[in-house]
Amino acid sequence: MIYLDNSATTAIDPEVLDEMMPWLQNNYGNASSVYALGRQARVAIELARADFATVIGAHPAEVIFTSGGTESNNAVLKSVVQDSKLASTVIHSTIEHHAVLHPAAALQQQGVPVYEATVSEYGYVDLGVLQSLPYGNALVSVMHANNETGVIQPLVDIRGVIGDALLHTDAVQTLGKLPIDVAALPVDFMSFSAHKIHGPKGVGALFIRKGINFRAHQQGGGQERNRRAGTEPVALIVGMAAAARIAVSNLEAHTKHMKSCIDYARVLLSSSIEKIRFNTPEEGALPNVLNVSFIDAEKLDGESILQAMDIAGVAVSNGSACVSGSLQPSHVLKAMGRTDAESRAAVRISVSKNTTTVEVERACALLSEIIRNMRV
Ligand code: PLP
Repeated sequence: MIYLDNSATTAIDPEVLDEMMPWLQNNYGNASSVYALGRQARVAIELARADFATVIGAHPAEVIFTSGGTESNNAVLKSVVQDSKLASTVIHSTIEHHAVLHPAAALQQQGVPVYEATVSEYGYVDLGVLQSLPYGNALVSVMHANNETGVIQPLVDIRGVIGDALLHTDAVQTLGKLPIDVAALPVDFMSFSAHKIHGPKGVGALFIRKGINFRAHQQGGGQERNRRAGTEPVALIVGMAAAARIAVSNLEAHTKHMKSCIDYARVLLSSSIEKIRFNTPEEGALPNVLNVSFIDAEKLDGESILQAMDIAGVAVSNGSACVSGSLQPSHVLKAMGRTDAESRAAVRISVSKNTTTVEVERACALLSEIIRNMRV
C-alpha cells in the first residue's frame, strides 16, 4: 500500500512506542496516587509537559493534555464562553475543522451569537470581513493551517485586526510541519494532536496563555490544575511529548523532503492531467499537502476516484465527509467558491517524512490514469 493520507493520521514512530511501553506495562500507577507507583507516573507526566512546552516555546504551566485535537478545540470554545466566561460571542472562519464548527453551532443553538469570517478563493481569511464583525468581546477561532488545502492563515495580521480579543488557533496540522513558537505567535489558545505527528491516537494538548483564568469544561477530578478533569493517560502523554520532540528535532530536513515530494507531485499531475486545479498554493501552504480538483468535475465521481485509488493500492482522501456512504462536498472548497461537483471530486495527497519519491510517482501515474478513464 502507498499511504498518502498523512493529514488524516500517521504511522506511529517506533521510538515513540518504545518510550510509551513501560507506561503501558509495569508502570501503571495513577499519577494522583501518593505512593511510589503513582509518584513515578506524576514525574513522567511533568517531564512530558516540560518537553512539550519546550517544543512550542511555552512554560509548562501553559500546557494541558487532552484526548486530542477535537477535545482541545471543544474545550476552548465551550469553556471560554460558558465555564470561564471570558467571551460572550464566537467568531470562526468558514474553513475550520468540524471540531470547531460543530461546538460553535452548539453554542449558537444555546443562544450565543456566532459569526463567520469568510475566506478568499485561495483559502485565506478575508481580513476586511473579519474587521466588520463584532470582535470586541469575542473568542476568535482561526486555524493555523487548513487540513484539506494546507493553506496557512496570517495569524499576525488577524491579531492586528481583532485587537485584544481572545484568539484560538487549531494547530493540529502544523506541528512538525512549521516552526511553532508561542512567544512569537500572538495567540491565546492553541490546539494540538499527537496522531498527526507519528504519535499515538487519543491524546492531544492545549496551550493556554499564562494569566488566562481557564476553567475545565468537563467536570470531575482536579487534574491538570482544574483545567481538564480525568485520570491522565500516562503512556499517551509520554508518547505525545516524544513525538513532538522528534518532530521538531529534524524539522528542517523533514519539511524539505516533504516539500520536494509535493512539488514533484505538482509537476507530475500538471503534466499528465488536463483541466486540473491546484487548491493548494505553491507558497503559503504546509509542505506536506497537495489538494487538487478538476474543472470538469461534473463528469467525475469523487467517491469512485477514491475507490479506484484504493483498489490500486493507494490511500488518499478528499477531505469531504462521508455521510451514509455518499460523499458530501467539502465545506472548505465550497467556502473557497468551488462548485459542489468540484468540491466533491477533489483529491488530497498528504505525505510524511517517510514517503518516497517512487511512491509519489506511482500514485500520480495511477491518479492520472483513473481520471483519464473516467473522462472517456
Ligand atoms: N483539527 C484539525 C485541523 C484536524 O485535521 C483534526 C483531525 O483530523 C482535528 C482537529 C481533530 O483531531 P483529533 O483527531 O486528535 O481529535
